[in-house]
Amino acid sequence: MPLIVQKFGGTSVADSQKILAAARKAIRAQQQGHQVVMVVSAMGKNTDLLVDLASQITDQPSAREMDMLLSTGEQVSVALMAMAIHSLGHQAVSLTGAQIGIRTDSSHTKARIKSISTERMQRLLDEGNIVIAAGFQGIDEDLNITTLGRGGSDTTAVALAAVLNANSCEIYTDVDGVYTTDPRVLPEARRVSRISYDEMLELASLGAGVMHNRSIEFAKKFRVAIHVRSSLSDAPGTMIVAEPESADQPVCGAALLKDEARISILGVPDKPGSSLEIFSRIAKRNISVDMIVQNVGEQGKADVSFTVPKNELRATLEAVNEGATVVGADRVTHDDKVAKVSVVGLGMARQTGVADKMFHALADAGVNIQMITTSEIKISVLVARDEAQRALRAVHQIFKLEQEPAAIPAIEVEATAQTRDPADVITHLRGVDMEELTIDGITLDEGQARISISGVPDTPGVAAKVFDEVAAAGIFVDMIVQSYNGHDGQASLSFTVPNAKLAESVAVANRLAATFNCEGVTSSPDIAKLSVSGVGLRSHTGVAIRTFNALAKAGINVEMINTSEVRVNVVVDGKRAAEALTRLQQAFADVLH
Ligand code: ADP
Ligand code: ASP
Ligand code: MG
Repeated sequence: MPLIVQKFGGTSVADSQKILAAARKAIRAQQQGHQVVMVVSAMGKNTDLLVDLASQITDQPSAREMDMLLSTGEQVSVALMAMAIHSLGHQAVSLTGAQIGIRTDSSHTKARIKSISTERMQRLLDEGNIVIAAGFQGIDEDLNITTLGRGGSDTTAVALAAVLNANSCEIYTDVDGVYTTDPRVLPEARRVSRISYDEMLELASLGAGVMHNRSIEFAKKFRVAIHVRSSLSDAPGTMIVAEPESADQPVCGAALLKDEARISILGVPDKPGSSLEIFSRIAKRNISVDMIVQNVGEQGKADVSFTVPKNELRATLEAVNEGATVVGADRVTHDDKVAKVSVVGLGMARQTGVADKMFHALADAGVNIQMITTSEIKISVLVARDEAQRALRAVHQIFKLEQEPAAIPAIEVEATAQTRDPADVITHLRGVDMEELTIDGITLDEGQARISISGVPDTPGVAAKVFDEVAAAGIFVDMIVQSYNGHDGQASLSFTVPNAKLAESVAVANRLAATFNCEGVTSSPDIAKLSVSGVGLRSHTGVAIRTFNALAKAGINVEMINTSEVRVNVVVDGKRAAEALTRLQQAFADVLH
């Protein structure tokens, strides 16, 4: 019998009428011949209320007790949902995470799923019950209650769909699908009919709150087709599958993370291992960092900047201050009034001028870009928080995201779901934790060259001008990194281009450096870009660390780095290319598939 997982978010179970409406949807699916597993979130804003209650008692609650507290929200709603189904004359059983056997690690408030037992759920389903699972919770080895992180019910739903080999996974929420950006922030946003796993993974981790990013890791790994739709209607929403909506569009969506903080460590001795010393301390605290940018070193010292969610600033500063002392850095600065604006799209990996367009839109809107990082399928910029919404609107507009793409090729969604072989899931999981890091390849690209412009003034429009000219010459720019404007109010802008285009790009850079009174241009024809690819690389805090560690041990300096959910790229000295590749292969041997 086909099996369907239906997840109802907080607003979709906010009161008794909504609980009854959700119950009816599940009953209808059962009557249409499905076995039905419901995953239910806490009612309305209940989780927020519980967080608030805790904060009235202490500003540093124990993470274990926080999980004990927050998990009660979901326990209330599953029980009420079961009663609702009973009252409508059908069989249902509610289960907590522990009762299902959702085993997690012990990182309270952001636990990762290790395994899920299906026997009890399957038995209840076979007896004709609708199974109602509490979202967002599990238990660790010592039976402590854990939670998966805010928004984690999506992850419970997709993980259950994967282990139960469900035919579909429906996410019912208060929007009717995934939009090109949060429709609450920009009303002109457009609902997309379809989005690829990689794009959704990236958007979700860059601020598109409609899906918990780790749920998309599961979906991609286990090929679960997700249907995001409104709990208020039966209209089709958005399918999250392997294929993008349109292959021609460079950008499929934009996202905003409003509450970010930047940390800069100034005057870090520019030698292998310095970054490692600092970042391993952060990773130990399970904090994921983003936008790691290192200035090309001067006088043997470099500046390293990166971002973390603002609510992790305090813990990160603790770690950074320790690390900075050990490596002998000059000082640490931070800014907690910044926001990150990103655009995402599979298409940008094949087109020139995408970054340029974005920087242009920002310059025209008078928004100053404080930092830039890119990866194959996303570009992120750091801006002042009070300019963030304007920045988001400008980039949404320039890529015409409100408009339907010209042609949306049809795909067989059923076929996508069915390419998953249950045996594969089992093999995939044998002896491996479900959310374990998966690396599927390490590659080396020796075809690129690096150009750096130092002393770039801190005014809107410089990046736009540089990449305007580079794009006008038809040069494809791969990695772009703009550092934070360190102690002297000036930033450095580095990028990579195909080797054959180096001379031409240097000429452009020199001309613009003169125009904007920059300090100078340096370039290196002999670089190697190494890429580690897989799933959930940014959310697994250890990946960048392993990379740094492996290279540092061999005395290989990392010149540039960028990270996305599906890739970590580092640029090193071209003469060390082969050795660097071997080192990384060794470092990831245990997780390489
Ligand atoms: P639920 O409680 O159902 O899990 P959430 O509040 O977690 O619902 O997610 C739905 C909300 O996500 C929407 O109300 C919307 O404001 C927000 N959102 C953010 N980014 C997007 C996006 N790209 N597309 C759709 N909704 C988005
Ligand atoms: N109730 C939890 C939260 O509000 C989990 C979820 O809704 O996904 O974060
Ligand atoms: Mg949610």
